[in-house]
Amino acid sequence: MKDKKKLNIKTRVIHAGGHPDKETGAVMPPIYQTSTYAQSSPGVHKGYEYTRSHNPTRTRLEECLASIEQGKYALATSSGMAAEMLVMHALAPHSTILCGDDVYGGTYRLFTTVFNNLHNFIFIDTTDLKNVESAIKKHKPALIWLETPTNPLLKISDIKKISLLAKKNKALTIVDNTFMSPYFQNPLVLGADLVMHSMTKYLNGHSDVVGGCLVLNDEILYKKLWVLQNSIGPSQSPFDSWLVLRGLKTLSVRMEAHQANAIKIANWLEKHPKVEKVIYPGLKSHPQHSIAKAQMSGFGGMITFFIKGGLKESNNFLKKVKIFTLAESLGGVESLIEHPAIMTHASIPKNIREQLGIQDNLIRLSVGIEDCEDLIADLSQAF
Ligand code: PLP
Repeated sequence: MKDKKKLNIKTRVIHAGGHPDKETGAVMPPIYQTSTYAQSSPGVHKGYEYTRSHNPTRTRLEECLASIEQGKYALATSSGMAAEMLVMHALAPHSTILCGDDVYGGTYRLFTTVFNNLHNFIFIDTTDLKNVESAIKKHKPALIWLETPTNPLLKISDIKKISLLAKKNKALTIVDNTFMSPYFQNPLVLGADLVMHSMTKYLNGHSDVVGGCLVLNDEILYKKLWVLQNSIGPSQSPFDSWLVLRGLKTLSVRMEAHQANAIKIANWLEKHPKVEKVIYPGLKSHPQHSIAKAQMSGFGGMITFFIKGGLKESNNFLKKVKIFTLAESLGGVESLIEHPAIMTHASIPKNIREQLGIQDNLIRLSVGIEDCEDLIADLSQAF
């Protein structure tokens, strides 16, 4: 038997945190749907006192998350935004954060409207290493916030080189790994200090949970984040923890199926006369295709494309799809389609959105695991 840490991720998604229940032998983890735990005398208990602090179902999920991201510690939170909030509170007041300029709209909103009084945020293009290097020297950040690939433009930043630059300058690096999932990318192995996920997406994979997580190796920082989680209260619920644990078991097969469909669809879109441009990390035309190949073991299931025309053409197309559902979010087994400028990224001011390239003819696909020919036929009739 291999050392547990050397088991393939396909095995770890199923077995990490998945031991049979000690009391009954139940093969699937029980849902400890309880807020509190009996103590035999004041302060004497079995490690669990109150579910905001700890819960056995959440503990199992955290064991699995730590294992698949190859970290020592994990915290499961009630949303991706809650995980981001904990990181912001963990930093010393008035910290400088260098943040990628194409992060998820909700992240941009959290930083610019909630934490802008506490910290100093500088948004830069993190795909350009020289830019990152000079910004680190100039601003002396405490944290570098990377989202790679980004939402929605799928820009890719070099995690290894940026983490190294950060370390040399005593800054921490965090990677929002939501789009790749631990199946295709492990930022801690590439040198990052923290990984965050919206578990709402690929980790859970079934569009029935909102959740988030942080994974890291540093014990002191973990304890600080845990105290914050316990004090503020955004811990993941027992039932939602259980649903994510259940979803995680099929992460490897789902990610392979998302990717197989996405590659076919991206290639098909690239040849379509009504498409101006396709962005998919697996295409040779992607500007950071070589970094993608080096730091990711796959290219994922997200595609962004520009339809020829403007808002009218986008709207007509989006109204006609039948299998793709017009909805926010991503990473579920079902295919979703959305219009970032009006939907997921509306919280970014129009002028900044346009500078970044989030135009009215930009459409984002979260390619599901349905039959690919059916998906292509659906897009074809909508064009
Ligand atoms: N990070 C990314 C890349 C996302 O796409 C999202 C949500 O869409 C979040 C963070 C926020 O996560 P949640 O919606 O679970 O709070």
